[in-house]
Amino acid sequence: MGKVIGIDLGTTNSCVTIVDGTNAKGEPEVTVIPNAEGARTTPSIVAFTAKGERLVGQVAKRQATTNPENTVHAVKRLMGQKVDLPEVQKQTASVSYEIVPHTNGDAWVKVQDRLMSPPEISSMILLQMKEIAETYLGEKIEEAIVTVPAYFDDAQRQATKDAGAIAGLTIKRILNEPTAAALAYGLDKRQAEKIAVYDLGGGTFDISVLEIAGGVFNVKATGGDTHLGGEDFDVRLIDKLADEFKKVHGVDLRKDRMSLQRLREAAEKAKHELSSSLQTEINIPFIATGPTGPLHLERALKRSELEILTKDLIQRTIDACQAVMKEAGLSQRDIDQVVLVGGMTRMPAVQKAVRVLFGKDPNKGVNPDEVVAVGAAIQGAALTGQIDEVLLLDVTPLSIGVETGGGVFTRLIPRSTTVPTEKSEVFTTSMDNQPFVPIHVLQGEREMAGDNRSLARFELTGIPPAPRGVPKIKVSFRVDANGILSVQATDLGTNRSQSVSVTPASGLSQAEVDSLVREGEQFKEADELRRELAELKNQAETLIYTTEQALEAYADLLPPEKVDGVRDGVATLKVMLESGADLASIRDCYASLENATYEIAEAMYGGENDKGAAS
Ligand code: ADP
Ligand code: MG
Repeated sequence: MGKVIGIDLGTTNSCVTIVDGTNAKGEPEVTVIPNAEGARTTPSIVAFTAKGERLVGQVAKRQATTNPENTVHAVKRLMGQKVDLPEVQKQTASVSYEIVPHTNGDAWVKVQDRLMSPPEISSMILLQMKEIAETYLGEKIEEAIVTVPAYFDDAQRQATKDAGAIAGLTIKRILNEPTAAALAYGLDKRQAEKIAVYDLGGGTFDISVLEIAGGVFNVKATGGDTHLGGEDFDVRLIDKLADEFKKVHGVDLRKDRMSLQRLREAAEKAKHELSSSLQTEINIPFIATGPTGPLHLERALKRSELEILTKDLIQRTIDACQAVMKEAGLSQRDIDQVVLVGGMTRMPAVQKAVRVLFGKDPNKGVNPDEVVAVGAAIQGAALTGQIDEVLLLDVTPLSIGVETGGGVFTRLIPRSTTVPTEKSEVFTTSMDNQPFVPIHVLQGEREMAGDNRSLARFELTGIPPAPRGVPKIKVSFRVDANGILSVQATDLGTNRSQSVSVTPASGLSQAEVDSLVREGEQFKEADELRRELAELKNQAETLIYTTEQALEAYADLLPPEKVDGVRDGVATLKVMLESGADLASIRDCYASLENATYEIAEAMYGGENDKGAAS
């Protein structure tokens, strides 16, 4: 079996890992794989340049200021989401790229007149992580464990799975991030412990309470907010700075995409610095032009200012923690360990709030940026048998049910049910000779179906004519270990499995995924062609240079018709390079010039030489 990598596909940063082997105690040794630039995490940013190139990671981040409309960040927040959700609307207002509705209402991204689904963009990040691992390991990688926030619903998980498929990666398991963090933290813990995993990243907040005992990871409760993270902290700072600037200069920096992007970078940098110092300088020269010339933004910022601006955001995480504790039936004192995950937990005010809530110092043994990916690699090693199996008892984040009479939501699988799980329900017809039964599956906690998230509509078809209430069709709802729902139906009368035609409420169809996979392969081919062409051009330029040098030095030693032939060859190749000729023509022309130059060499040295030795 090939190697299985672990990928933390983060909103802001992604991280890839692999289990290299085991130590003397049989514990996995995990390597965090550095990218080409030597960094252990890679920004989850994809950019499209005017030249048609696709950039991923640090290179994409670096050019964001000059190419804001075509630089997509935080796409994870759009995965499996509808465009009309208030949170998506908020994101639409705050990012510099365009978010548009797809025909089914899903939030898509529009770049350079091309519509792209969030899974497609995510697949580019996954592909980059895959390539980082392949370069490091020197072998092809086909399988991965990918993590998602525990709070991700079925549509969001499905979207993540689609992203893997488009990237040519089989996602062997979709693992909840807090469970992964617990895995990284607690494999060697033999005595039973209850741990709280507090994960505040760039775009999502997760809190989970788990119990670890003898290799069994039991998720007691999980909660959080898929739309609360470091970016919200940045936005607070951006708004504050932009409001002040507007008051003084009458210019709204948020209206200009370039200024907004620069402001965002400066705000995030200031936030980072305030984690280690009490005060920092914000300095953005030439951020705008006023009536009297260029305007600059200069300001000192104190840690306390940031803390005041973001107090309620931190409080929201604490409220979510309390709700989850309550659900788990635990008090703060019951928690043995608090594990901090996510870059935002470097903020002192966050650490303090967590310490006050749990009445103890958070565990410092794990790196908050890498711990999730480390756990993913461990899960991969457990699945391939490289290390002992670990038992992960994850739970469903939200109830799954169906719509029944009067638009009521009837729960079939309540939230916090351990997965995998299966629940069956018998459906029948409500009219005589009814040929099909429509079923609407939803996910959420509200009492009315309309207030919950629609996952899919099913139609049980081909029901033979019968009086109402007579047909009995058993429908099984299965949530697998990835938290993804599948449905199967059996006609109890005939014991035959019933056909289920699915119209997912969101996401990509299999046909769409397939076509994106093909497109990705074409892109790869086009990429390879482009690279080959660039290399050939480079070689050709070198050949032209060395030939011209040789002609200059030795032309008078050669027969004039040879010299003319070589000169012609050089001229033709030059024209080809300038006119953007295709690979094959350049290659032919290159080859014939190369031959001609060999003849020069031959004429100079080879006259008396044995021909056999020269070839
Ligand atoms: P995600 O899991 O969403 O990809 P990360 O765990 O990488 O996110 O966290 C990214 C967030 O952490 C960003 O909002 C970033 O600004 C913030 N962050 C990173 N380092 C620091 C720091 N030293 N102080 C405060 N915030 C930080
Ligand atoms: Mg994260």
